[in-house]
Amino acid sequence: MENIVDKLIAINIENFQTDLINWYEREKRSLPWRLDQDPYKIWVSEVMLQQTRVETVIPYFENFTKQFPTVQALAEADEEKVLKAWEGLGYYSRVRNLQSAVKEVAEKYGGTIPRSTEEFGSLKGVGPYTKGAVLSIAYQLPIPAVDGNVMRVVSRILGIWDDIAKAKTRKIFDYATEQMISKEKPSEFNQGLMELGAIICTPKSPSCMLCPVQAHCNAFAGGYERELPVKSKKKKPAVKSLAAAVLKDEDGNYYIHKRPSSGLLANLWEFANLETEKGNKTEREQLTDFLKDGFGVEADIGEIQGVVEHIFTHLVWNISVYFGTIKHCREDTSLRKVTREEMERYAFPVSHQKIRNMYELDRR
Ligand code: SF4
Repeated sequence: MENIVDKLIAINIENFQTDLINWYEREKRSLPWRLDQDPYKIWVSEVMLQQTRVETVIPYFENFTKQFPTVQALAEADEEKVLKAWEGLGYYSRVRNLQSAVKEVAEKYGGTIPRSTEEFGSLKGVGPYTKGAVLSIAYQLPIPAVDGNVMRVVSRILGIWDDIAKAKTRKIFDYATEQMISKEKPSEFNQGLMELGAIICTPKSPSCMLCPVQAHCNAFAGGYERELPVKSKKKKPAVKSLAAAVLKDEDGNYYIHKRPSSGLLANLWEFANLETEKGNKTEREQLTDFLKDGFGVEADIGEIQGVVEHIFTHLVWNISVYFGTIKHCREDTSLRKVTREEMERYAFPVSHQKIRNMYELDRR
């Protein structure tokens, strides 16, 4: 930490704040969540923006806040509808946590998002980044909002060579940004750092010649801006093979399955599938047995139709897709029978949306 204190002393923090904030106020992009100061909408936008690009988020944000315009509306909404509005954004635990948290805000705080860091920070899914971002932008509280983008920018400005992939490094950035944040304009300061990381100080090719804080930047002065931040590589993701069956009966109905209420992609809908194993049985045989034992379904499974790949942060799914015609289905099966039209109302994870859309199910 001593090292970082020296680095902070070496830059003129007041001038740095002024240059950053003036630039932000002049150049900021017009984004829908910047149109008003509604803390709820700011919160929704911050949750959506985690791991997702601004351009992708805009239509989702507009649709979501139209369907659920207030804390109360989201607190009372049916989870199926909420998941459907999030369909395609991924990381679904974010929206489940958001809905749990707004329920608590509705019950405990009368629908007003609390200003206290302890109260807001104790809500489900609200980590240090979300807490800082929402409370600084909505209520002008001087709390830093440190995510990967901000760590990149600050590591370059101060010349920090610690590995940002390590959890303990976060303390250094928390401390540095606490010292750097403007007490008068914390919202503009935090958003200025985020904006700088998004459009100027980008990961691979920072536009230093256009940068409003170039005069304060250690990495630029030393010519090592492309070497920072130091980020050690993650482990390779595990690769799993799955087989999925798009099941249809004689009347043209489809059969879909709801995932368990906890774990990966909880409560989303999908085509029945299993993780396959290499061995004596073919994928088709494994799928046929699985449908019979797991769902009481006897089906004719056809030839493989293709393979859908889906990449999560730590996992890759390769899903072999088969079409199947149901011959017999047990009454108490846990599969749900739906028409092609009804299927559109259910929230599917991206991998199964690809199956649903790619294979033009109507034409089967
Ligand atoms: S001068 Fe370059 S490296 Fe430094 S903050 Fe600006 S864009 Fe990033």
